[in-house]
This record gives sequence, structure tokens and C-alpha cells, in this order.
Amino acid sequence: SEVATMMDVPVTKVISACMSLGMMVTMNQRLDAETLSIVADEFGYEVDFVTADLEESIEEVVDNPEDLVERAPIVTVMGHVDHGKTSLLDYVRKENVIAGESGGITQHIGAYGVELENGNKIAFLDTPGHEAFTAMRARGAQVTDIAIVVIAADDDVMPQTKEAISHAQAAGVPIIFAINKTDLPTANVEKIKEKLASMNLLVEDWGGKVQSQDISAKTGAGVKELLEKVLLEAEILELKANPDRNASGTVVEAYLDKGRGYISTILVQSGTLKIGDYVLAGTTSGKIKAMHDERGNKIKEAGPSTPVSILGLDGAPQAGDKFSVMEDEREAKDIASKRTQLQREQSVRTQRHITLDEIGRRIALGDFKELNIILKGDVDGSVEALTDSFQKLSTEEIQVNIIHKGVGAITESDVLLASASDAIIIGFNVRPAGNARQVADKEEIDIRTYSIIYDAINDLKDAMEGMLSPEM
Ligand code: GDP
Repeated sequence: SEVATMMDVPVTKVISACMSLGMMVTMNQRLDAETLSIVADEFGYEVDFVTADLEESIEEVVDNPEDLVERAPIVTVMGHVDHGKTSLLDYVRKENVIAGESGGITQHIGAYGVELENGNKIAFLDTPGHEAFTAMRARGAQVTDIAIVVIAADDDVMPQTKEAISHAQAAGVPIIFAINKTDLPTANVEKIKEKLASMNLLVEDWGGKVQSQDISAKTGAGVKELLEKVLLEAEILELKANPDRNASGTVVEAYLDKGRGYISTILVQSGTLKIGDYVLAGTTSGKIKAMHDERGNKIKEAGPSTPVSILGLDGAPQAGDKFSVMEDEREAKDIASKRTQLQREQSVRTQRHITLDEIGRRIALGDFKELNIILKGDVDGSVEALTDSFQKLSTEEIQVNIIHKGVGAITESDVLLASASDAIIIGFNVRPAGNARQVADKEEIDIRTYSIIYDAINDLKDAMEGMLSPEM
């Protein structure tokens, strides 16, 4: 109705324009950005989005290349359960040596920084696992520069190892393998490397490009070398940031402390955060009253790639929310409350995810070049057969990418990956398990399940040709 008024056309015309796009809408419904553009176009208007996404109301600062200085890499540890992620994080935390301050990281604030003997720094996210990583990404936050994928040498490349690899790859984050538990007599490092090679991940000492390091998170053997490899990878990535501006970054965790108020751990990604700064973080805001590092030390400033726990926000922002320092307190408060209001209007979605029905239209619009698919099946054979067939459907206009494939039910983590990578999920003889269906409904992820290979291929083919009849 609002759009109709703005364009000075009867609301019924707007509704029928939506219907011709296959959308049944009511007068009071909010339209997503894409539909708005198409509908407006039909009536000869162009949409200028000013606050469609409130992130946009925050000035994007473009740095001069000469202002950029090197920053420490930010690392996430991933891998199959019990392969040693926590042990590795604990070992690095305990053994960290900063001049005169051996060990000493006693607080779990969600992230910590370590300094190596040569003065180089690395920041670790303290929540291991690809689920946390992808959940953040689904919220639009890309924090991790490098992923360490831990694989136990007395075990195998397991389903969650494969997931971790797919999740890191989908995010474009380079992987370093840490082949763990090499202290065990049953460890078989070569077997793991062979398995990785069969997955097209050739490690360096097998003549490939992927870095890998044999370690024991228990004895610490190889951990120093692993961290050196992280720094090497960081050098290749040329990670840089401008420390001389208002800070911005991402929230890692937040909670309410009964005595002290809301405490949030944030990771500064650009600029320098100072006590007294006005911060906007998600739907919260406030003036920074105090900052602490992971050792509980009071600090006054935090530069790029520094995790810091802050006091002063008027609420608990969510992990993955972006934060930025604002020039004045009122502005920070205003935006925070506008966001709260938008959040209340549940139906608001600025970005809708792709569905099979929509592919044809999006291709025709010309703005859709890659179709991301997550493929789960009951047996390896059918997964491989479908992968081949799907990939062959790629055309000059559109590339089909299988960003993750695996044997087993469709999990919540698959749905998160689909949300973070705008993918559709195809299940062959498998169904969504646990919470996957609910999360998919919430995130509006298209899940299609098939029991006949031919049907799956045909549906995808028809969708790509814009010929799929809508699912009843
Ligand atoms: P996570 O689930 O990946 O975080 O794995 P944990 O770090 O909790 O480790 C699982 C189990 O493996 C624990 O009992 C650890 O003590 C053990 N573990 C981890 N790393 C090593 C290692 O290098 N050598 C040996 N022998 N045991 C390890």
C-alpha cells in the first residue's frame, strides 16, 4: 500500500504486479528489495534504497592504500568432534609466551591473541567448529582469515572434517591442516594425507599447495611450526588494515554480568577502539567505559585484529553483529533503536535466498551467474552420480557449484551453509534431521528431496531453463 501511494497507482495494481511474479501478497505486506525493484520498474519508477539495510546508513570508509598497515591473521579451528580442536586451542593459550607473561590467559572471552617469540601476532576465535563460523557468516560477518582444520591421525577424514573443509572453501578462507594426535602409536599420518589427496586436497609434502602440519595438541609437538605456517599463509594474504580511524569490527560474544552490566567481546578489524568511544553494535549502543584483554588486563586502546572485552553497551548484541564507532551518541542510539524496530517487524528481509522456482527468472534478469548447491544423499554412489550430472548442467550463463556434498541427513549446519552462501539444498533419499527443517523455514532456504535421480536432474534442468512449474 505504501509503495502504491508513493507511485500514485491503485494498490490493486501493485498487488496484481506481484501476483504476476508469482507472489500472493496483501496490502500490508512488506516487499523485499528485489521485488520492490521489479514492481517499481513496471510502473516506470526506479528504486533508490537508502536505509533498506541499516548497515548502509553507516558510512563506509575507504582507506587510502598508504594508510594500511599489516595486521595479525584471525584464525578459526575446525574439525570433527574429538579430533582435538579444544586441546589445540588450550595448548596455544597455555603455552603462549609474551615476554615475562608466560601463559596467563585465564579468561574465556571468546577470542584471544597470542604473540610468538619473533613478535608476530595471531588472533584465535575461541569457539571451535564450522557451525559457529558459518552462523556468523550467515549473519553477514566474515571474521576468519585462515581456518585450521584438525584431523586426528588415529582416525580418518570424517563427515565433519569434510563439512569443515566445505564451509571454509565456501567462505573462500584458506585451510591449513593440523594432523593431530601424532603421539599415539596408532597414528597414521600418511593415510590421512592420502585421503585428502583423493579429495583433491594435495598437501605440500605430497607435492601440492595446501599447507599441513603434523602436531600433537597433547605434547605440543609441531604446534610452533603450525603457527609459523599460519603466519606464512597470512603473509600471502597480505592482511592489512588502517589503525588510524574510528574502529569497526564484529561482535564475538556478549552476556549480562550481574555486577558489571553487559559485557561484550568484540574483534576490532579496522581502526583503533578507545575508551570513551560511542559504539553501535547490532541493536545496542553505548559509550565504552572499560576495556580488558584476554588476560584480564585493563587496556585503553585496541587496534586491528585485537579481541577485546568491552563494558558500556546498553544490551547484549548477537555474535556476528557488526560494530562501529559513531561520531555522536545520539546517532548511535537512533540507529540502534531503528534496528530494534525493524527487527520487531519480523517479516522484514532485505535479502531473500534463492529457490529452485526462482532460478529461471533470476537468470533471465541476468544478475545470477552461479547456482550453489548443497547435496546430501544416502550413499556415496548416488551423491557422486548427481554431482557429475548437476555440474554438466552448467551453461555459459550459469555455473553450477556443488559447494558441499556428503552422505547423511540434511543437518542444521547444511542449512546455515546454504544461508551463508545463498545455496539450495538437494537431498537424495535423505530428509532434514533435527532442527534442520525449522531453521530452513526461518532462513527461507529451499530444500528439495528426491528418490529418483532422473527427477532431481530434470527439476534442476527445468528450473535453469525457467520452465519449472511451481511446487504445489
Ligand atoms: P574436540 O572435540 O575436537 O574439541 O576434541 P578435544 O580437544 O576435546 O579432544 C578429544 C580427546 O582427544 C580428548 O580426550 C583429548 O585429551 C584427546 N586429544 C586431543 N589431542 C590429542 C593429542 O594430540 N594426543 C592425544 N593422545 N590425545 C589428544
